[in-house]
Amino acid sequence: MTLFDDATFDAGFCFTGFDPEALGLDLCAENCLELVARRIGYGPDTLPVGEKAGRIKTVIAQGIEAVALAGQGKPVTIDRWSGKEVVAGPVCVQSPRWSHVVRQAQEPQALYGFILTLGRDFDRVKEKAALFDAYVLDALGSEMVEQAADRVEQRIRAWCATRNRVCSRRFSPGYCDWPLAQGQQALGDFLAPAAIGVKVLASGAMVPSKSITGAVIMARSLPLSCPCPVCNQANCAYRRVA
Ligand code: SF4
Repeated sequence: MTLFDDATFDAGFCFTGFDPEALGLDLCAENCLELVARRIGYGPDTLPVGEKAGRIKTVIAQGIEAVALAGQGKPVTIDRWSGKEVVAGPVCVQSPRWSHVVRQAQEPQALYGFILTLGRDFDRVKEKAALFDAYVLDALGSEMVEQAADRVEQRIRAWCATRNRVCSRRFSPGYCDWPLAQGQQALGDFLAPAAIGVKVLASGAMVPSKSITGAVIMARSLPLSCPCPVCNQANCAYRRVA
């Protein structure tokens, strides 16, 4: 089944209860082992083998089995921008850096907001797990939800191309200079994610825990697809090349 066609993106998408494969994610315990091992602290030369690798793969398989992917997203016209923020309907992006990206754009048109979750069952498996297994599951969940967000970003980019538009890299509250609580609340109010079983707390945390919000900027052209090329924050762990 195709989750997203062009008409879906025009109107906004909403899906619940899908396997990760539905989003094009090729997840299996073998493929995820190194990614998860790196997240929990193994170095490239000290990756787990033998019994330890087997244990981690068993936990990963349990985690993948528990995923019921759900997501929601829709566009909203950009109303205005200043040096400090971008306002698109009810969504205010209080980020001078992303405001700079919009100021550089030719015909900034819309913000496309989205939210994705691995679902509550994934949390339940983690809550029942032993300490080390829960640590593995937490890393697995972070990896899966980031990969899912990457896929949604790719789909939005492809859809933009059919509309003679380009889009920025995805960005999320809590990263760069967009305050977590303000951004999560703004996207939560805009998307109303109760329909996919997600609750945004006042702190900016979300339930289920492995949920992610994001946004991209759509425009006729974008000299900057993210603020990183003109950012002077040295040694930022999240720096992107374009
Ligand atoms: S380098 Fe880091 S702080 Fe600077 S714009 Fe990129 S993500 Fe944001």
